[in-house]
Amino acid sequence: MYSFRIQLFAAVVIAVLGGIISYYCFPYSRFLSALIGLTAIFISYGILYFFVLRPLRLIQRVIDAQKDKNSVHRVNLYTSDELQTMSDSFNTMLDAFRSDIVQLEKLERVRSEFLGNVSHELRTPLFTTQGLIETLLHGAVDDKKVNRYFLQKALSNIERLNLLLEELIDISRIESGEMKLRLRFFDIVSLLVDTVNAEQVLAEQQNVILTLNGDTGNPIEVFGDKERLRQVLVNLIDNAIKYSEPKGTIMVKFTEQNDSVKLSVEDTGIGIPPQHLPRIFERFYRVDKNRSRDVGGSGLGLAIVKHIIEAHNSTINVESVVGIGTKFTFFVKKSGVG
Ligand code: ADP
Repeated sequence: MYSFRIQLFAAVVIAVLGGIISYYCFPYSRFLSALIGLTAIFISYGILYFFVLRPLRLIQRVIDAQKDKNSVHRVNLYTSDELQTMSDSFNTMLDAFRSDIVQLEKLERVRSEFLGNVSHELRTPLFTTQGLIETLLHGAVDDKKVNRYFLQKALSNIERLNLLLEELIDISRIESGEMKLRLRFFDIVSLLVDTVNAEQVLAEQQNVILTLNGDTGNPIEVFGDKERLRQVLVNLIDNAIKYSEPKGTIMVKFTEQNDSVKLSVEDTGIGIPPQHLPRIFERFYRVDKNRSRDVGGSGLGLAIVKHIIEAHNSTINVESVVGIGTKFTFFVKKSGVG
């Protein structure tokens, strides 16, 4: 690498040499003396201009161009000196800065989209409840044919609000890192038996058959947060019930595999069209908004499930065929290692 100092030094030496030569060699010719002196100054300026001023101006221009946040300018110097090193570092800094801006803009978009979704989700049950109460107050309370029905509807809207708020609190605690997992060894088989038994009531109400498939005779110790994994199973089974038709079947299955246990919740429900599959774990993403709301969905269940599974260093997978059914699969480790 040529040193920046060498270039400055060369410019000074040429100017001084030019002065000396013109002074000593041509003391009697003012014209030659002036010509050599001027040439020396010109060459020195040329060196300074090409190797110092021009690159600095180029850098300044790129800095000025940053006022436009869509600018794609970079500093392109091919001088192989300290300025080149500086411009390379500057470009690296610029790339990092631009990717930070893109990231911040994305976060801002996600945040406002999230706020929009939250207010929309809260508004619907709130307005419905308000409407029902107003109707009751305007006389429907004395009408025995409808008063209980309206009250029942108001209650179910308030229950929906409650569920939404609980899930919102969960998701914000998970995403802010506030929710810590309580990892310990526990028997996954008894958790599965308990959860499936508890969900039988809902399954019967919807007239679907819910079964647990696997060797329930022997306990299997896994390492994880028991309550959070219960929440995962409940969400998946609730969904399977919600998105099944009467007489459908839901199978919760578990099998031991080396260092982990493979768990799946499979239904014979309505299924999910392939174009929606990559997005169903996003917050508030629903395939059919009306059906989801009708069955009391908040649109946050699968986002919470995914967060919890990922916090266990695992992944969740979904396979689905419209009209045939859906299967969610994930693994829980038997030990905390790996
Ligand atoms: P929701 O509260 O709306 O059920 P989720 O986050 O739990 O929200 O699920 C997101 C969407 O994925 C649902 O709205 C539904 O369209 C689809 N979905 C989830 N589970 C199933 C399933 N077992 N069968 C069919 N569709 C499902």
